[in-house]
Amino acid sequence: MSILDCQGQQSAVLRLQRALRGRRVPHSYIFYGPEGVGKSLLARQWAKLLLCPKPVRRPLTTMKDAGAADHNLDEIDDCCDQCRDCRMVEAGTHPDLHIINRDLARFTSLKRARQLINLPIDVIREFVIKPAGIVPTRGRARIFIIEESETMSQASQNALLKTLEEPPPGTFLILITSRPERFLPTVQSRCQSVRFGPLPYTFIHKRLTATGVPAEQVRYWADFCNGRLGPALELAQLNLYEKKCQLIRQLAGLNYYSALDVAAWIVDQAKEFARSYQKQRQEPSTDDTKKPGPTKKKGGRSRESGQPLTSPTRLGQTYFLQMLSHAFSEALRFHGQQEQGKPQSVNPESARQIAQIAQKYSPWACAKAVRATAHTEGLLQANVNPSLLFESLMIEYLRVES
Ligand SMILES: [Zn+2]
Repeated sequence: MSILDCQGQQSAVLRLQRALRGRRVPHSYIFYGPEGVGKSLLARQWAKLLLCPKPVRRPLTTMKDAGAADHNLDEIDDCCDQCRDCRMVEAGTHPDLHIINRDLARFTSLKRARQLINLPIDVIREFVIKPAGIVPTRGRARIFIIEESETMSQASQNALLKTLEEPPPGTFLILITSRPERFLPTVQSRCQSVRFGPLPYTFIHKRLTATGVPAEQVRYWADFCNGRLGPALELAQLNLYEKKCQLIRQLAGLNYYSALDVAAWIVDQAKEFARSYQKQRQEPSTDDTKKPGPTKKKGGRSRESGQPLTSPTRLGQTYFLQMLSHAFSEALRFHGQQEQGKPQSVNPESARQIAQIAQKYSPWACAKAVRATAHTEGLLQANVNPSLLFESLMIEYLRVES
């Protein structure tokens, strides 16, 4: 794999390339944008290029075909993808590439047992600041990719300031985030920011089709995921389409008698999702006793490379919330299209139920339901009891119904 395989994010790729060509590569980057659009993927390929002793130039043809923005580069610098360093990066075993995330909290001197919401200061001190001062093992560079870096506590961000401003020679830091506004201004000002936009609908459509997903599902997931390839692939592979249809049927028929049952059904389905998710990855539900080995570097890997950073159950609950929100967005779209003449659904198997939801909910009520769902998602991330949250949400849907 190489930088040319990072499709759909040409402007980010070209921005990095121009810095490299001008020999002014910043030591600290912030890669920001929605989840699942390739930030971690490009960070790893960028690290691979910086660590490769025999980089090559490749024509940009592939990216031009993918619709690259205006640029003045015909070739890009890329890793050779063959040397030992490249192979080690690909295998996750390169000693100079450090992937940092919250899971590492279990392996600091404090040995925190519990799943954390924040990336604590001991992780930053022990896994970033300390190794950053050591000469790279293989001589070329030492690179730190900090996943979900917006979860760094204020203390962690302050501790990192000096390393961000004056990193030791050959040290590069990439802060990956979907919430850059959570950084302290002092962190933002010390880094170059690279924006990642949502991937084009056609690109996601093509990728899903290539994996053999049925056409009606491709249309739904490509629209549902709104430019995020990671979740689109994940959801299509986990065969959640039938559950989505069941969810929308229940939403269309929601009343005060069924509200609590629907909430309980969603909580159960999220647990089932977690089981399938873990089974697909053939990993145990907890591995608190397992230390990171010298390979698969200290700490977990990102979802884009196969493992979740949040618990699978939480992920399932979040997806069900997003499906509810999407159903109301579709009902809102139905209202708009009805005014113009002919409603067209990206969700043909649930079109009748979406029309029913649109009949029950005015555009204003749909918007309120979407807002209530987003609020619930925020509370879920803050560890509020999921059963209570889904029950309250169903009651709120009935309250805003017009
Ligand atoms: Zn190489």
